[in-house]
Amino acid sequence: MKENHYCHAIGCERVVPPAYLMCRECWSKVPKSLQMKVCKYYIRGQEKSKTASPEYLNAANEAIESIKENH
Ligand SMILES: [Zn+2]
Repeated sequence: MKENHYCHAIGCERVVPPAYLMCRECWSKVPKSLQMKVCKYYIRGQEKSKTASPEYLNAANEAIESIKENH
């Protein structure tokens, strides 16, 4: 069964490929330093194996928090 994966930004409901944390529009609002942090800890295939590291989840949360104000 295929499930839709949605942009993780709060208030955004765009469907994005599972490998992406956010849609392109939301991602572009995330500060560069945080984008780099998320990329650094992203492990190819983690969305399938469900093995995202705590560091990745932390960085992902920070990124989500950083654009929360814009909604
Ligand atoms: Zn979005």
